Amino acid sequence: MRIANLNGRAIAVRGTHEGLFGVDIAESSSGQFPPAAIDLTARIPEVVAWEASLKDSAFTIPITLPDLMTPIPNPAQIFAIGMNYADHATEVNIDLPEVPAVFTKFASSLSGPTGRVRMPSDQVDWEVELVAVIGAGGRNISRYEALEHIAGYMIGQDLSDRKLQFAGGTASQFSLGKSYEGFTPVGPWMTTADDISNPGNLTMTCSRQDQVLQSGTTKNLVFDLPYLVEHLSTVVELRPGDLIFTGTPDGVGFGRDPKEFLVAGDELVSTIEGLGELRQTFVASNPLADETNEMELEHA
Ligand code: ZN
Repeated sequence: MRIANLNGRAIAVRGTHEGLFGVDIAESSSGQFPPAAIDLTARIPEVVAWEASLKDSAFTIPITLPDLMTPIPNPAQIFAIGMNYADHATEVNIDLPEVPAVFTKFASSLSGPTGRVRMPSDQVDWEVELVAVIGAGGRNISRYEALEHIAGYMIGQDLSDRKLQFAGGTASQFSLGKSYEGFTPVGPWMTTADDISNPGNLTMTCSRQDQVLQSGTTKNLVFDLPYLVEHLSTVVELRPGDLIFTGTPDGVGFGRDPKEFLVAGDELVSTIEGLGELRQTFVASNPLADETNEMELEHA
């Protein structure tokens, strides 16, 4: 099933892009389930069984992607993994890490499946990633049981301001440089884990206008999701609703020769097989510097 966030409430979604319809989970279950998605993450099998019992006619709320907010707005922890695809590590000229390279994206940078992102510099880059949502949390979770701790999956964009990310030499500012406002779009909804038979075999793309920027598959992860869950949980307690950004394949702008970055007016489209798509539009940091574009977007 698909769980989206409409006005701060968890909504089950059915349908296709031609017609999406939702049902308010708390309301329709007469309070069996709470209204916030994060409070559902530890009870996914129960929620999925309830949703399966609903008829299509129960889904009466018409939905378009711009209506939706970030599916889990308040995770306790967001983990992101760097250099987790060999071809990506090579293109950015960084050695493959021997243990997962972990940083965070601060929660205030989370945003929904569509919207505008203001660029703080002329070095804003794209990174499409599979994002896993933790269901049942815990410490010292074995890799063999790890997937039982996943509530679901989303598409994520690990937007990165390379200017700040690599400022300061050896003490690179990964977490801060990837946490500007709107730099963590995820969604469009959480697809529950039962709908994804193998998270280690999903294709993904990232493109702008007609240019395909990234085309990869989670088959090529250096540290797969079970390993990441095991590794992280040896250090921290994973909690329901925590997000894990699993890393990006090759094709980022920083790794190109010459380097390429997002420019005002670009529409970035990110897809992962079975999970839907994200669409972000980019505007200049100084709206006066790009007034025409701003006006067009306002009236789009
Ligand atoms: Zn990343």
